[in-house]
Amino acid sequence: MDISNSKILSVEEEASGKPSDVSVDFNEFGKDASPHDGENSALSQKDVIDESGFDGFGFSKALLETLKEKGYKTPSPIQTAAFPELMLGRDLVGQAQTGTGKTAAFALPLIERLEQHQSRPQALVLAPTRELALQVADSFQAYASGHKHLRILAVYGGADFRSQINFLRKGVDVVVGTPGRVMDHIRQKTLDTSNLKTLILDEADEMLRMGFIDDVEWILEHLPKERQMVLFSATMPAEIRRLSKRYLHSPAEITIKTKAQEARRIRHRCITMPNSRKLEALNRVLESFVGDGVIVFARTKVITLDVAESLEASGHEVAVLNGDVPQNQRERTVESLKNGRVNILVATDVAARGLDVDRISLVVNYDIPFDSEAYVHRIGRTGRAGRKGEAILFINPRERRFVSTLERAVGQPIEAMEIPNNSDINESRINRLRERLTLAFKSPLTTKEETEILKEMLSSLAQEENLNLEDIALAALQLAVGPRPLLFNGDEKWIDEPVSRGRRGERRQDRYGSGGRRADRSARAPEENMERFRVEVGYRDRVKPGNLVGAIANESGLHGRMIGRIQIFDTHSLVDLPKGMPDDVFKVLKKLKVMNRELQIQKTT
Ligand code: AMP
Repeated sequence: MDISNSKILSVEEEASGKPSDVSVDFNEFGKDASPHDGENSALSQKDVIDESGFDGFGFSKALLETLKEKGYKTPSPIQTAAFPELMLGRDLVGQAQTGTGKTAAFALPLIERLEQHQSRPQALVLAPTRELALQVADSFQAYASGHKHLRILAVYGGADFRSQINFLRKGVDVVVGTPGRVMDHIRQKTLDTSNLKTLILDEADEMLRMGFIDDVEWILEHLPKERQMVLFSATMPAEIRRLSKRYLHSPAEITIKTKAQEARRIRHRCITMPNSRKLEALNRVLESFVGDGVIVFARTKVITLDVAESLEASGHEVAVLNGDVPQNQRERTVESLKNGRVNILVATDVAARGLDVDRISLVVNYDIPFDSEAYVHRIGRTGRAGRKGEAILFINPRERRFVSTLERAVGQPIEAMEIPNNSDINESRINRLRERLTLAFKSPLTTKEETEILKEMLSSLAQEENLNLEDIALAALQLAVGPRPLLFNGDEKWIDEPVSRGRRGERRQDRYGSGGRRADRSARAPEENMERFRVEVGYRDRVKPGNLVGAIANESGLHGRMIGRIQIFDTHSLVDLPKGMPDDVFKVLKKLKVMNRELQIQKTT
């Protein structure tokens, strides 16, 4: 295998227009097919890989055993390319997204190279969100299950500082953390960086997007000069390239471009409707949808709650993930979604970042995302692990103009979709019932003994009531249908009404759109319970609403749901925040830097 210092391995499917189901799916590693033996696999064409399984990378028996237990059979393309470089301790830049196996790509070699019995941390992994930090730490823990001596700790804002300090004092080998909390620990000297041999920067572009790049650079400046550095990013904006040029030494470069494929596995559709009909439309979409888990993206916490309430009232089992949900509850929610106890999650963008649940087959963009990157991120929650996914975008007539930008971002058309009418919904309901019945018949949930009892009940009931089996089966089916009528008969006249731009009474929800450039918008007063603040960062600093949301939400303890409308002007921006902000939060926000500029936040009224 060629392991020259600046190897560029590009795995990219041509935009050939082939239907997605015949293309090779690089994310399907570990399943029955090897990712390397498909006709579209650039790896097989390039003949870069000649080994099978995880032998040949110099991994210990303990690690090979762990991988076997986890059911990993074949390394993914990024792993095959990264293992040899990282086992040699080289710097590496990897362009890859979540779902490509990038965590194991850096974690496995690191686990093998960590020294035993060190009291100070040897490796630091920086992740943009606590969700991702936790996920990476969990994966590390799982991969290191055969290396009992290794201690891994996740440090992130919002979690108890003291217990993190206690762990750090006792000795930790790998620290996985968000930039803000890692900075705090370095400043307070509770994180000793003097023995750090490796730094991993995960989802670097996301750090940039959330306004953390200055913090990352600050951390880099506080690490030993002699160390290995690994940078992973889904995209490579100029700022990330600059960072990698500045801090990495002759890095190996690996590019795994599965984005186009991922997008193609996902069908994109959009429905135009007045804002006042969104809840009804959502209900209809969910009623007619046949598939696994669903994530509904809403812009604010208030909307997540409104949506969840409405769906619950219609009989759906719903979970909510927003910045207000405490960490332990978030973990439980994600778990319920993973194991199918809950099928519908209503979430804000910030709260759902890094969410990795394979069984999501539909993403509903209940509110249009504030930029195309956010759209790509949202839809990336479906079509995972080689499955197909669907994305449905809700827009009002004014928002139509954003659709082409989103189409360019995913390289695919976003087809227009009709709101499902009563007959569509009823067809789905009947199909679903049929499926449940077939499943119950094919794989009964009762034990043998229980089945015998049920059979006995059937025959005695038939005798006593003088019924035939069809009557009883019908009654049982009615039980399965439950108290709701089988057929949906909602008002559907509005569905066919033309949707015009100037519809009266339409609520505007494009809070994060191209805010501030129009005079009428800036004149609007903040919503009830909100106050308007001025921050000293604007277009000239290339700030985007996402930078402000990310920075304020993650760094100050204020939750994403608390952040209201954002308007960006040339040299400053206006941000709506809840009334009565505590002094300590205000102080943190005053000094908070976004796009390298202190916010110097002040109230406008
Ligand atoms: P990541 O891109 O690191 O988020 O990984 C995506 C998913 O793939 C995770 O659920 C991993 O556990 C899984 N995974 C990573 N490497 C392999 C492999 N070689 N074989 C099977 N599954 C894997």
